[in-house]
Amino acid sequence: MSGIYIHIPFCKKKCGYCDFYSIRLCKDSQLLDNFFLALNKEIVNKSYLFKNQTVETIYFGGGTPSLVPFHYLENVYKTFADNYHLSNNIECTLEINPEQATDQYFSELKASGFVNRLSTGFQSMDNDCLKFLGRCHTVDDNYRYLDLCKKYGFNNFSVDYIFGYEMLTLKEIERSFKIFTDLKIPHISAYSLGIEQGTSFYLKLRKGEINVIDDDDYVQQFRLVHNLLTSAGYEHYEISNYSLPEKYSRHNTNYWNFVPYLGFGPSAHSYYDNTRSWNIRDVRKYCDMVSRGELSFEQEQLSLRDRFNEYIMLSLRMHRGIDLKHLHNEFSEFENEFYHNIKDKKISRYLVEDNGFVRLNLDGLIISDTIISELFS
Ligand code: SF4
Repeated sequence: MSGIYIHIPFCKKKCGYCDFYSIRLCKDSQLLDNFFLALNKEIVNKSYLFKNQTVETIYFGGGTPSLVPFHYLENVYKTFADNYHLSNNIECTLEINPEQATDQYFSELKASGFVNRLSTGFQSMDNDCLKFLGRCHTVDDNYRYLDLCKKYGFNNFSVDYIFGYEMLTLKEIERSFKIFTDLKIPHISAYSLGIEQGTSFYLKLRKGEINVIDDDDYVQQFRLVHNLLTSAGYEHYEISNYSLPEKYSRHNTNYWNFVPYLGFGPSAHSYYDNTRSWNIRDVRKYCDMVSRGELSFEQEQLSLRDRFNEYIMLSLRMHRGIDLKHLHNEFSEFENEFYHNIKDKKISRYLVEDNGFVRLNLDGLIISDTIISELFS
């Protein structure tokens, strides 16, 4: 079992909060051709790494994959089909931005037949909030996207939503999630706004043009999102992810379960044979290196301690939590340390032990970063 991630590094413009690697797509069609030439070459070159693997999931992310003409993506999928063993039951997800949701795009998508799951960044159902976040679309685009999903029979799709900022009101959250739950959107990723170095929000924060949300307001927003979705029948299966039954993301769940994956394109990460590697974060350098036949990535071998730390961190993000049997079988030398640390009074009240698993309760999920850093301090 394994996964594939493809990073398409082009966007129309940079959103204020985004620190994913992408550049503005200009009319430089030569760069687009060079990029896809390099990408297809990287796919072929790395196929030996997965020669004994069956690929269960493929994820076209970015950047904005829906910004490039669709035939490029179709060709990429074909390169995978020709060089890898793809499962008959593959989950193939494509990120589409709402402003690119047109009848023509959806009809191409449907005709091609290889994409069976969609993911889109609505981020808000309020035009003022969308403007604040620096998005290129409006609420009307979000609705058009939903109509097209219905018209073309895409019933496995996810919508991203951002909360955790000052101008967002509880009333607005209630209104948005009422729309989502009434429409039975199968999967919702609700992320809290992070202000990362290198983003335009970071500069605005330093200049005092925006503020970080107050802690109490953040907790209220997190709780409200959680309550609205879980009371409507959504499973809160990971800190930021909620799904209706059977509609969880297989691709992301595999990341959190340490299933090997290969990443393609600039800045993409890979994990296999206890090794993490990451591609260069520059599309032109990426193209040059791949065309010269050079590996465009750096890598590090994970020690047992690294793997233990990652296992704890990722498992605590998930509702399922830490499997104590797995901990014993794989990381027995850190077991005493683990049990000692979770008895700490600062942490223990946020943990629940249940049927051989240890997980965070809702209060713990809200401050998971603090708890995880306490666990390792
Ligand atoms: S959030 Fe998405 S659309 Fe906006 S800049 Fe980042 S990758 Fe591009």
